[in-house]
Amino acid sequence: MSADPSVARPLRAPVRSRHGGAVYPAQSFEERMAAVEFRVGTRPHITVDAAVCRSCTTKACVSACPADLFAPTADGGILFNYEQCFECGTCYQVCNGAGAITWTYPDGGHGVVFHHG
Ligand code: SF4
Ligand code: SF4
Repeated sequence: MSADPSVARPLRAPVRSRHGGAVYPAQSFEERMAAVEFRVGTRPHITVDAAVCRSCTTKACVSACPADLFAPTADGGILFNYEQCFECGTCYQVCNGAGAITWTYPDGGHGVVFHHG
């Protein structure tokens, strides 16, 4: 019997902890990105106000975003690309610049699709 190629499989199987619960090994960035697909909409569902970011001292979004979508620029600003967003909301939570991030979900039929085994 051959496997259905349209069905995505988990990249790593869970293992049992000492207490009997399932433990999922840490995934690399590449494995994380390979486990999802992005149906990119034309409307950016997150926008970032670069003028506010220039005065931000933490740049917390850069290390917090699991999809690595925030990049600091030489002039103290931030480059942001919404196209491979997991829609986790972490950037909005950690941002300390009032009004820097405008966050909504993508339009219907667009956004991240998580594959389950
Ligand atoms: S944490 Fe907020 S204000 Fe600071 S750089 Fe990131 S998006 Fe801009
Ligand atoms: S919602 Fe999550 S994945 Fe999307 S930009 Fe913010 S932190 Fe990154």
